[in-house]
Amino acid sequence: MSSVAVLGTGIMGAPMARNLRGAGLEVRVWNRTRERAEALAEDGIEVAGSPADAAKGADATLTMLADSEAVESVAAEALPAIGGVWIQSSTVGVDATGRLAATAAERGVPFLDAPVLGTKKPAEDGKLTVLASGPEDQRERCAPVFDAIGARTIWLGEAGAGTRMKLAVNSWLLALTVAIGESLAFAEALGADGATMLDILDGAPMGSPYAQLKGKAILAGDFTTSLPSRLAEKDARLILEAARSAGLEPELARAVHERFVQTVALDHGEDDMAAVYLACTPGAQTRTG
Ligand code: NAP
Repeated sequence: MSSVAVLGTGIMGAPMARNLRGAGLEVRVWNRTRERAEALAEDGIEVAGSPADAAKGADATLTMLADSEAVESVAAEALPAIGGVWIQSSTVGVDATGRLAATAAERGVPFLDAPVLGTKKPAEDGKLTVLASGPEDQRERCAPVFDAIGARTIWLGEAGAGTRMKLAVNSWLLALTVAIGESLAFAEALGADGATMLDILDGAPMGSPYAQLKGKAILAGDFTTSLPSRLAEKDARLILEAARSAGLEPELARAVHERFVQTVALDHGEDDMAAVYLACTPGAQTRTG
């Protein structure tokens, strides 16, 4: 493994590309909006003009794109040029992962379903958790890629297993985010002080470091984006769809999804998912007031 193509240089893809380069791999990137990728040239990363140009000759091609539509359209262009392994790390859900795996198989391209846990900062620090799944004979080969972007790689089985675990963990994570947003809005509506509430939760068995992180950001009104609310809405929708396909009707996941739909409708889709607090607050503010 000496060269990697990264397709998609957004919040996650750009730092992942930098860390791959930092680990000594040759890295080529492509991004729909080329300007967003150009800063990477300073790190010795080549910016390609098309997905196929990026993928051509690379030992691995890693997709880190917004959603299944993006991955499917970019893969249609890139696949004929992929000679190595395709590592699919975008969060696209169960059904789309099945379709992508089938498309890769038709082309004879080894496919790893490897979504990641962790957000902007862990991506920058190379401290993501990779939920890897796919053919056994690719594991050792892809280790340098996963070691460069993550602190931990967990192998889960055949392609699709990574995505299923990602959705399960995100179900917990998104519920936690809505829980802290709604609980703070509730505290304030009752005249109970939000900062004191966070202090009571701090270190307590029912508290969590994540509640502290997001709770403090909410109280500071700081919605600097790690995971944009629009992607949280997408993930919540994928969770709901997967749950229903599995025969469940999860009431909590439905409510969580609805909260993120409201957050996006309030024009906070580009803000961090902690902005879900605004959807829980009576008379919630839109970006324009
Ligand atoms: P992002 O900053 O919004 O980047 C999305 C990328 O997808 C950009 O490169 C964007 O290109 C591209 N894109 C969107 N629509 C496209 C289309 N139709 N055709 C081609 N390219 C398209 O998102 P991100 O935070 O990096 O997330 C990427 C993936 O990782 C998502 O599936 C997300 O759910 C998942 N993820 C995110 C986090 C997080 O905390 N942010 C954590 C774990 C997993 P442009 O620059 O041209 O818009």
